[in-house]
Amino acid sequence: MWIDSHCHLDFFPAQIIKKTIKSAKNSQVTNIVIPSVSPKNLSQVVDLAGQDDSLFYALGFHPMYIDEIDDSDLHRLAECVKNSLPVAIGEIGIDLFAKKDNIKKQEYFLASQLEIAINFDLPVILHTRNAIDLVLKYLRRYRVKGGIAHAFNGSNQQAHQFIDLGFKLGFGGAMTYPRAKHIQRLAKELPIESIVLETDAPDMPPFWLEKTQQNQPKELEKIGTFLAQIRGLDPHKMAKIISKNTSQALPMLGKLCT
Ligand SMILES: [Zn+2]
Repeated sequence: MWIDSHCHLDFFPAQIIKKTIKSAKNSQVTNIVIPSVSPKNLSQVVDLAGQDDSLFYALGFHPMYIDEIDDSDLHRLAECVKNSLPVAIGEIGIDLFAKKDNIKKQEYFLASQLEIAINFDLPVILHTRNAIDLVLKYLRRYRVKGGIAHAFNGSNQQAHQFIDLGFKLGFGGAMTYPRAKHIQRLAKELPIESIVLETDAPDMPPFWLEKTQQNQPKELEKIGTFLAQIRGLDPHKMAKIISKNTSQALPMLGKLCT
C-alpha cells in the first residue's frame, strides 16, 4: 500500500472525485492526505475526507492565499482544528517565487499557524518555495513536533536541517523527469527514513503523463516504483518504508490506519 501525503483532491471536479479515489485504491494507493489552502476550503476538505475511510486532511492557509486572510481567519482555523481531527496544520509556509511584496504578511501567518500547531500538539505540512532558509528560521523559533517539507527541492544541507528538526521530506512527480538530476540525487542519497511521497495532484504531473492527462493520486504507485528503482529496493519494501515514514511524520494517520 502507498500513502499520498499531499493531494489537493478537493480541486478535482466533484463528479470525478469518487472515481479518482477508486482508481487510486486500484493502484494500491490506500491513503490520501488532503491539505486545505484557504478559509474557503476548510470545511470542504473536512467534508470530503468524511466521505471515505482512506482520506485524511490537514488544515491551514497556504502562503499563496495569504492576501485573502486576516486575524479572524486564524481564530476560525483554531476553532476548526479544535472541532475536527486534522492530521496536521497545513498547507502553510512561505512562497517567494509567486510573490515577494507581501513577505511580512507571509511570515506573520506562518508564525501564527506554527503557534496553532504547537497549541494543538500537531505536526505541520510546509510549502517552502524559494524560501527554505526563512522557513527553517521560523522552525527553530517555533518548535513544532515535526511534519513534512512538501515538494522538497533544496540542498543536501538544508534537507539535513529539516531532518534535525524532526521533519520528513516530500518527493513526487518532479523527481521523475530525466533532467531532475538534483532531486533524484537527494532522493537517492538522503536517509531512507526521511522520505515521504506525494503527488500534489492535480499539480506537479510526473514525467510520463501527456499534457492532456490529469495528475491523480493513483500516480503515486509509479512514483513510488521510480523511487524504489533509484534506491535499488523492491517496490513492496519501498511502500512499507514510505507508510512507516508517513505515519511517523503524521502520527494520527498511523493510529487511524491501523
Ligand atoms: Zn499543495
